[in-house]
Amino acid sequence: MLLIRNADVYAPRPLGPQTLLIGGGKVLWTGPGSQLPDLPAVLQAAVTSIDLGGKRLIPGLIDGHVHVTGGGGEAGFRTRVPPVPLTRFTGSGVSTVVGLLGTDDVARGPRGLLAATYALREEGLNAYAYAGGYHVPPRTLTGSVRGDIVFLEPLLGIGEVAISDHRSSQPTLDEILRLASDAHVAGLMTGKAGILHLHLGDGPRGLDLVRRALAQSEIPPRVFNPTHVNRRRALFDEALELAKAGCTIDLTAFPVEEGEDAYSAADALRRYLASGAPPERVTISSDAGGCLPCFDADGRVTHMDVGAAGALLETLRDLLAGGLPLEHALPPFTANPAALLRLSGKGQIATGADADLVALDATGAADTVIIRGVVHVQDGSPVRRGTFETV
Ligand SMILES: [Zn+2]
Repeated sequence: MLLIRNADVYAPRPLGPQTLLIGGGKVLWTGPGSQLPDLPAVLQAAVTSIDLGGKRLIPGLIDGHVHVTGGGGEAGFRTRVPPVPLTRFTGSGVSTVVGLLGTDDVARGPRGLLAATYALREEGLNAYAYAGGYHVPPRTLTGSVRGDIVFLEPLLGIGEVAISDHRSSQPTLDEILRLASDAHVAGLMTGKAGILHLHLGDGPRGLDLVRRALAQSEIPPRVFNPTHVNRRRALFDEALELAKAGCTIDLTAFPVEEGEDAYSAADALRRYLASGAPPERVTISSDAGGCLPCFDADGRVTHMDVGAAGALLETLRDLLAGGLPLEHALPPFTANPAALLRLSGKGQIATGADADLVALDATGAADTVIIRGVVHVQDGSPVRRGTFETV
C-alpha cells in the first residue's frame, strides 16, 4: 500500500491539501490535510509513504488517440514509425491510451494493434484500442467490426475512420451509417463506449457526412466522435455546432506554425469554452506515434516528425499560462475522455476510483506518476521502463 502525503488535489475539482491511501490499484481512502487513516498495526508495516511537498496531484491523463504500433508509412516503408515505448507515455503523465490504426491498415492490422495494446498492459499502462482503421470496409478479426468490439475486450469502438481526406476510402453516407450503427449496437451489448472515432482531413467537405448521418438516422449524436477538428479554422467552427448538438469533439495537440489556418489545441479549447458549448463534450489527444511529415518550400518532405504524448502536458501548461484555472483545463484530458469512453473509475481522484495519479512539479512537468497504484515515475525520472528501453 502507498500513502501519499501533502498532495494539493485537483480531482479535477480543487480539493486542497489531502492525504491518500492507495491499495489494490485503487484509492482506498482520502482525508483532508495531514489526517491519517486509522490502520491496524499489521497494515501500517505494509505502507510506503510518498511526501509530495504540496505538489498539485491530478488524475492520470487519458490519451484517446495513439498509434501504439507506430503510424506513418505514407512516404514509403521506411516511414513506418516504430512502436511507442512505455516511458514516452508515463513520463508525460499519460496513464491510459486508446490505440488505433491510421493510413496504413494494410501492412498493419488488428492483430498487431491488439498485440501492442496487450504489451503496454503487461508493462503496466491502461491500454485500449479501436476496431478498424482509416479505410472502409474495415479489417477485422472476427468477420465484423461489431463482432470485434463484442468479443475482444480492449476494443471500445471503431476508428480512426477517415473522412474528408484524400487518404480516405471516400466512404458514402450509407457506409458511415453502417459503421456508426455497428459501434452503437456493440456498445449496447457490452457497456463499452461504442463510438465511431472519425479522422477529419483537410477536405472542404468537413463534417458534412456527420451532419447528414445525424439528420437521416436514429443513431445518437454521442456515437459520432470527430478528431483533428482544430486542423482548419472553418472545420473547428463546424465541430462547435456538432458539440452543441450532442457529439463529443476531439482536439489534436499537434504543433501549429504562426499564420497557419489551424488552432493549437490550447487555442481551440479556449475558443470552445468561450463559445458556450458544453464543457464536457471536448477532449484533447496527442496522435502520439503518428507521422507528422515536414515539407520544404517546394512541398518536398524534408523530415518526418512523430506525434508525442508529451504534447498533452505542453498543452495543459499553455492553458495554465493563459490564465485558465487548472480545474477548468483538466477535464478534456481526464474526466471528459473517461465519460466518452465509459471508463468508470478513471479521469478522477476519488475514494474507490482507480489510482491513476500524476503529481506536477512547479513547471507543470510530471514529477510522480502512479498507474493503478504502481509508481512509474518518481522525481521526474522513470522507475519502470518498457521491455526494450535501455537506461
Ligand atoms: Zn488521424
